[in-house]
Amino acid sequence: MSTVLIVGAGTMGHGIAQVAAATGDTVRLFDPLAGATERGLTKVRENLDQGVAKGKVTAESRDATLARLSGAVDLASGAAGADIVVEAIPERLELKVALFKELDVLTSAACVFATNTSSLSIAKIAAGSAHPERVIGTHFFNPVHLMALLEIVVHEGTSADVLARVQAWGKQLGKDAIVVRDFPGFASSRLGVCLGMEAIRMVEQGVASPEDIDKAMVQGYRHPVGPLRLSDLVGLDVRMAIGEYLAKELGNPAFEPPALMRKMVAEGRLGKKAGRGFYDWP
Ligand code: NAD
Repeated sequence: MSTVLIVGAGTMGHGIAQVAAATGDTVRLFDPLAGATERGLTKVRENLDQGVAKGKVTAESRDATLARLSGAVDLASGAAGADIVVEAIPERLELKVALFKELDVLTSAACVFATNTSSLSIAKIAAGSAHPERVIGTHFFNPVHLMALLEIVVHEGTSADVLARVQAWGKQLGKDAIVVRDFPGFASSRLGVCLGMEAIRMVEQGVASPEDIDKAMVQGYRHPVGPLRLSDLVGLDVRMAIGEYLAKELGNPAFEPPALMRKMVAEGRLGKKAGRGFYDWP
């Protein structure tokens, strides 16, 4: 790939933008919310500065990455000449369908439409587009610059050429990719979200503190991070939307968001991005 548009500059969007720019792409970041694109660009700058401070990134590489990254003032200017568009907007089917429909007329014929959805049907997202063969899932993990996995999700209509281009792009980004068929929750979220929901039910039932439930998985099962801390990192609102969708699509109540999760989301205790979730994030 060479010119990349990332739509949505939140938790995932800014991270994907950083990794693409760091590995040589010309990257544009666009978010319609006032100030959000600039906040995303600032987060990339801060990540890279931290990398320099820790000796993991050279100052030259930071500067070169930032030189390849810019904010787009609108979707049309961001999409012009893009080889791939990756959307990282909220986990709502109608938003993603509407976005790809809009991009149909703003992009060139070879542009790949990639979605960072954690769980939604790629075929349903593609169904709204005039070019479903160009739609593919590129599920990155949080934080994008540190997590090696890239889950590539193909629906039945995804073309072999698009898959090959995205696999090559994944290599360029330094990711370890898996290719998964278009089933709800793919290979990762279906297992991860199930564990997260059960851990929240255990907090509700007073089984143990969030810290100790997490410790059980970290020390006892060698998970690098416990399910409640991970829910905080992902965002409780994001995980709740995935859980609702998977409960319905898979007909499995294990994915149903527990009452405690709904209450925390209603109160704005969304996890790290809100400063408070199961843990305090000062
Ligand atoms: P987020 O809430 O941090 O960011 C979403 C951004 O999209 C916001 O800045 C918002 O202003 C913008 N936005 C809203 N509506 C839009 C629209 N119509 N067009 C363009 N931009 C719009 O969300 P996130 O955590 O980055 O999640 C984005 C996607 O990535 C979701 O599909 C989510 O399921 C998936 N995902 C999230 C994680 C995670 O750990 N948070 C991990 C993997 C995948």
